[in-house]
Amino acid sequence: MAVHSDELRKDTDMAVKEYTIVIDPGHGGKDPGCVNTIQGRQEKVVNLAVAKLVAAKLLSLYNKEYKIAPVLTRETDIFIPLDKRTKPTTSGLCIFVSIHSNSCERDTPHGLQVYYKRNCVASQTLAANLLCRCAPVLRLSKWNRADPATFTVLKTSKCPAVLIELGFLSNQIDCRELNNLTTQVALADGIVEAVIRSIVPADIAIEYGFDVTGHTLR
Ligand SMILES: [Zn+2]
Repeated sequence: MAVHSDELRKDTDMAVKEYTIVIDPGHGGKDPGCVNTIQGRQEKVVNLAVAKLVAAKLLSLYNKEYKIAPVLTRETDIFIPLDKRTKPTTSGLCIFVSIHSNSCERDTPHGLQVYYKRNCVASQTLAANLLCRCAPVLRLSKWNRADPATFTVLKTSKCPAVLIELGFLSNQIDCRELNNLTTQVALADGIVEAVIRSIVPADIAIEYGFDVTGHTLR
């Protein structure tokens, strides 16, 4: 059964808990993901760069009062089958975030999209937070959306799960941005803020220095 955000919050009020945040950089090794041939860029590289920044930031937040343990499904350019990626998820205090970049036959679509585990309120909450924290990093667009989906990693995750498409590598401006370190850091910061906001009560989030004002994109 899916863990709802209210249940997650209840637990955090009671005692010191350790959250496992599984960060899954999509593709890797023989599977490059989508490719921008004009700029010579591969999705697997972008996904890993942002995932590592997210893990490093989460690790830096780890303290005695509040424990957030990031786990990367891959730290290098290796191929991992989809069904192995959700192995580190447990039914306990855990969140699964798969990081991808998008592609389209046309080069006009741009911007960030989020997919969440179907029928899981905690996943939907996290997706909404990701959309409002991360979408403004790239140009806002009519393609900015958060939708339920049945991707393998979302279905097989035992905990709340989301898949974020950072932007469209098929769009030349997005592709340049996604390969820019400043943009990657901004996206990673947004992902971390969204994760914290989704699992941590507002008073603790403020201690971390996060903006906890609730705003929605749509
Ligand atoms: Zn992908």
